[in-house]
Amino acid sequence: MNIVFLGPPGSGKGTHAARISEAMGLPRISTGDMLRENMKLSTPLGIEAKSFVEAGKLVPDELVIDMLKERLAEPDCANGVLFDGFPRTERQAEALDEIAKIDRVINLDISDAEIVERMSGRRVCPACGFTTHVSWMGDDLACKKCGGVLEMRADDAPETVLERLRVYHRQTQPLIDYYEQKGLLRTVSSVGDVADVQQRVREALA
Ligand code: AMP
Repeated sequence: MNIVFLGPPGSGKGTHAARISEAMGLPRISTGDMLRENMKLSTPLGIEAKSFVEAGKLVPDELVIDMLKERLAEPDCANGVLFDGFPRTERQAEALDEIAKIDRVINLDISDAEIVERMSGRRVCPACGFTTHVSWMGDDLACKKCGGVLEMRADDAPETVLERLRVYHRQTQPLIDYYEQKGLLRTVSSVGDVADVQQRVREALA
């Protein structure tokens, strides 16, 4: 089964896809995580992607599509995958249609105001990728999973978040119609408790 998680930056795609990944035993493919890993390792792709990611822009389609194709060729993807943050443009959605049959698209719905509030408080562990929010961690900067030191993602800075939202509305939001027309879309409110949202996601997948 192939599932796409669609939604603006900060809507909880990563959090909910990770939980579904565990429950269904399917790998979560996050193009954002893959790009950040490439940037950390200064691979040629990472070096090329860096200026786009840091400015809150999308990395050019062909780079991301090639990276994704390579990942999908790995054996753990044979029974399906959860796409987190891909596709983000119509060109990417069309490319995806050529390489995988999409069974369901979960569209996480949330207002821009709520996103700005969430992302200004988001903290991530650079070592293991664990993500949390200042309202849950108090003064404790230690990662619950690996003990690393949590930090703010460079592209979660307020001005970059606003640019990422503009990019989302212009380039990614049209995919809601794209998948609606294919009869694959299920829209779930991403407002409220993580457990409640996860329950709604599971119902939408049932
Ligand atoms: P994310 O972690 O999914 O919020 O992605 C972080 C950043 O990586 C985005 O703001 C883009 O710069 C880049 N990125 C991630 N996925 C894609 C994609 N499918 N297409 C283009 N750029 C992407």
